[in-house]
Amino acid sequence: MSHHEEGVYCTYCATLEDQEEEFNPRREYTLTAIASALLASAVVADFIIKNLLVAYTLYIGTMIVAGRAIIPKGFKGLLRVHLDINFLMTFAALASLIIGAPAEGATVLLLFSVAELLEDIANQRVRRELDAVISLRPHVATVIRDGRRYIVPVEEVAVGEIVAVRPGERISVDGVVVEGTTYVDESAITGESVPVPKQPGERVYAGTVNQAGYIEIKTTKSADESVVARIVSLVEEAQRHKSRTETTVARISHKYTPLVVAGSILLALFNFALGATPAQAVYRGLTLLVAGCPCAFAIAIPVSMVSSITGYAREGVLVKGSRHVETMARTEVVALDKTGTLTEGALSVSNICIHSDATPEEVLATAASLEQKSEHPIAQAILRKAEEKGVAISDVSDFQVVPGMGVAGTIRGVEYGAGNLRLIKQERVALQMPEDHECGDGSLVYVYRGDHHLGTIVLSDTERSDSPDVIAELKEMGIRVVMLTGDNRKTAEIVAERLGIDDVHAELLPEDKVNIVKKISQDHVVMMVGDGINDAPALAMADVSVAVAAATNDAAIEAADVALMRGDISLLPRMIQKARRTMGVIRHNVAIAIGAKAFVGLMAVFGLAPLWFAVAVGDMGVSFVVIANALRLAKRT
Ligand code: ADP
Ligand code: MG
Repeated sequence: MSHHEEGVYCTYCATLEDQEEEFNPRREYTLTAIASALLASAVVADFIIKNLLVAYTLYIGTMIVAGRAIIPKGFKGLLRVHLDINFLMTFAALASLIIGAPAEGATVLLLFSVAELLEDIANQRVRRELDAVISLRPHVATVIRDGRRYIVPVEEVAVGEIVAVRPGERISVDGVVVEGTTYVDESAITGESVPVPKQPGERVYAGTVNQAGYIEIKTTKSADESVVARIVSLVEEAQRHKSRTETTVARISHKYTPLVVAGSILLALFNFALGATPAQAVYRGLTLLVAGCPCAFAIAIPVSMVSSITGYAREGVLVKGSRHVETMARTEVVALDKTGTLTEGALSVSNICIHSDATPEEVLATAASLEQKSEHPIAQAILRKAEEKGVAISDVSDFQVVPGMGVAGTIRGVEYGAGNLRLIKQERVALQMPEDHECGDGSLVYVYRGDHHLGTIVLSDTERSDSPDVIAELKEMGIRVVMLTGDNRKTAEIVAERLGIDDVHAELLPEDKVNIVKKISQDHVVMMVGDGINDAPALAMADVSVAVAAATNDAAIEAADVALMRGDISLLPRMIQKARRTMGVIRHNVAIAIGAKAFVGLMAVFGLAPLWFAVAVGDMGVSFVVIANALRLAKRT
């Protein structure tokens, strides 16, 4: 985007950073009050006392106070040969002095400054909503070094250090609990207000609140890499981001300003030709100029988007750019990954079958050793079981992840592997278990040594109880739901049946998932929802990608367009509804702005609208409605 285009609305749409340092509401209110008082006295002097000198002085005073920000910007724009709205307003005010309509000119500037004030207030409100989410970064931490406690700035806590957190305290670092148990309020990050139990080995996040017991945490991330720090930077990034619709408006209004100027000149000339006095002619032209300014029209979209994205962040939904809100609103197909998305955290080992002289413990120990470095939910379930049973885990060399199939490696010089049927076939392992086995339903992990099938681990999928409702709701919204999984067909179908999904693609490799998403996206807008494990390429292919349980998966939070900080999909329908509502508000806002402009513009052409009316309706009134409309989106839904 060229510098020029950006200037079209950025000159009067204060960015959040700008206003953070500059916007002082109390000062602005006071100055606005002073300007109003000056204008009132000017009107009294003008029409009641009829002292023109005093009146003019007061009008000019009003213009200076009300135009304190507008006039300098207008002249700056003039110097850069960039005729923005500030210039138009300044020009209108000066011209009004010359043609003997100073009351109008002063009113125009005052009303316009109020419109700008409204916008600043809106930005500040949104900013405050966001702060409620992120002001939570604690600045100090209690570190334990050589058995002594030091309170240090969080930036000085190194990865691997132990941090103590007392009950009621806000956790200052991302890390793993090493001592104590407690409940943690993670609402800052996930939007979920029910406290989460934590025991040694579990992850905790900076910005969340320790509700119950004393705990000690081993730091896993430096302060600037913590999840909450990342949320802050992502949301700020999102606020800077401009959506396609926004840039379209910028482009249109950039072309449109010269048109309005030309139209105004023509209107003035036309009136003059029809016999109006020069002052009357200029006045008509000015009214069209003021009526035509694209300001309220240009804030309609950014204010709505920023407001909406902030609303999402408050619920633990991180939307990384307004164009993703647009795409979400248009979503026609939702493709869901099964493991880790529909079944997060609920996978558990339900049976181990033996097909050799190995014992179940040996099979479990082998699998757990191989799975140590895998982050797949299957691996985690196997490791949990191994820990529960207290089986010993061995070192693995030549470790290898075979995406969508399993894992392999060498233990004490012997090659082992664990994975699905595909892996067994690829490695030419002689399968020892009949297809209609009695081992149990679920995801099967075949454990083998060389080409010898040792045993089979069955993992049962107990999907979240609210998943069927979520799927039903999506369908009700007219969205097609598709399940993509690398798991075996039988398990996939059982899960799909229970969830009410009738479009199932099973036994997929990561590249198959990509191809399916690609195919659907040829004629539909596809949202892909996954956990980033074995589905990152498919996420990247989708029109909009949603990472689940993002708080625990760093790669996914980076790559996805939308990150769900809470580990489940229950927010999906509301997320899409909110996107639709956001686009609705935007359309609504743009329509209001265009309607008001057209109305005021027409009145100006026919000489029915005084100058102040053009600003009051076309600018301040529209800004007010548009902003009030947009701010609703910042609320939690
Ligand atoms: P999904 O998330 O849909 O289950 P994945 O591609 O993540 O798809 O996994 C596909 C299948 O590959 C799993 O069902 C499992 O059979 C096998 N698999 C993947 N990773 C592992 C692993 N670490 N250990 C054992 N099996 C695995
Ligand atoms: Mg998965």
